[in-house]
Amino acid sequence: MKEPLVARMREFGTTVFAEMTALAVRTGSINLGQGFPDTDGPPAMLERAVAAIREGANQYPPGPGVPELRQAVAGHRKEHYGLVYDPDGEVLVTVGATEALAASVLALCETGDEVVVFEPYYDSYDAAISLAGAVRRPVTLRPDDGRFTFDPDELRAAVGPRTRAILVNSPHNPTGTVFTPGELAAIAAVCQEHDLVAISDEVYEHLTYDGLTHIPLATLPGMRERTIMISSVGKTFSVTGWKTGWVCAPAELVRAVQTVKQFLTFTAGAPWQLAAAYALREELGWVAGLRDALATKRDRLMAGLSAAGFGVYRPSGTYFVQTDIRPLGFTDGLDLTRRLPELAGVVAIPTQVFYDHPERGRHFVRFAFCKKDEIIDEAVARLSRLHGKSPDNIL
Ligand SMILES: *Cc1c(COP(=O)(O)O)cnc(C)c1O
Repeated sequence: MKEPLVARMREFGTTVFAEMTALAVRTGSINLGQGFPDTDGPPAMLERAVAAIREGANQYPPGPGVPELRQAVAGHRKEHYGLVYDPDGEVLVTVGATEALAASVLALCETGDEVVVFEPYYDSYDAAISLAGAVRRPVTLRPDDGRFTFDPDELRAAVGPRTRAILVNSPHNPTGTVFTPGELAAIAAVCQEHDLVAISDEVYEHLTYDGLTHIPLATLPGMRERTIMISSVGKTFSVTGWKTGWVCAPAELVRAVQTVKQFLTFTAGAPWQLAAAYALREELGWVAGLRDALATKRDRLMAGLSAAGFGVYRPSGTYFVQTDIRPLGFTDGLDLTRRLPELAGVVAIPTQVFYDHPERGRHFVRFAFCKKDEIIDEAVARLSRLHGKSPDNIL
């Protein structure tokens, strides 16, 4: 048989999440790799989904999404950000942020077009870009004064005549960076100067700490008209299995994304859509509680990782802590995370797999803190055994 997978997808074998989760299961390790919460979302939202099924919301919802959810999304955007989107034509419900991202890239890019991404990037970005036959142009986020940021000159240099879009993710997974007004303004300036579309992944919009608030790229002058703003229920309401997301953008961009989306899935998840509409209207108080709880978990994990000898970066958002393994005497995060179950009974994610330039992230390892306190404490206790187990001591 001929090689069944098209050439452009061959570099995307098994994701590192699948590898590391399988490793956690096989070795009985604590999984701080994959970023999913181990507690449920707001009870009344869960009940709303059950009620929706009982009440018969079990057939295809409308292609753009149920009107209740499109209205709730538009209402949320207006109330929180002062952004006005027409629920009929400027809001599109998708199968999670993942489908929104893929459909946006597929809609915008001709073969050979380029998309600027910030590395380390969320793993579906490079796959979506390759699927579209497009080319990624990475701009590296580097630690500077304790947080990851980019050099605006490097961003400008990444843009060329074939650049179609910039993929922006703030709050940023996996570094925990929340872009500042200045960083967002630099991105906006490049988009306007080169007539680019910004695809803005804002799934962690509500999970910011230390009093920082998320600023949607579309709120910057001149950006609403060229931004595809994406979010979903998974992270905000701790229901990553619901895969219900949405796009907000000017009608012309939404039509383009919907043209692709309708043949990927057409539509999905009628009960989750209704429950998501309820949650956006009624459960943002619960989300504020989640954010406060996560801020405490972040501090707990950071303190433990520091005590265990890691270099630790303080995330301003998301639920990940980025660490530097060199203070422990290790140099390669992929190598360390493959041996971490045996060394310490913990699983984490090697950040280098999210780079076009893996050498720039070789010494970074990502830990998730969206876990019960006792799980974090046990993981940290186990990781404290890493002291003195650097390669020199092991070999
Ligand atoms: C989890 C995550 C997504 C995927 O969101 P879904 O709604 O589950 O598809 C997209 N982007 C980032 C940065 C994420 O962390």
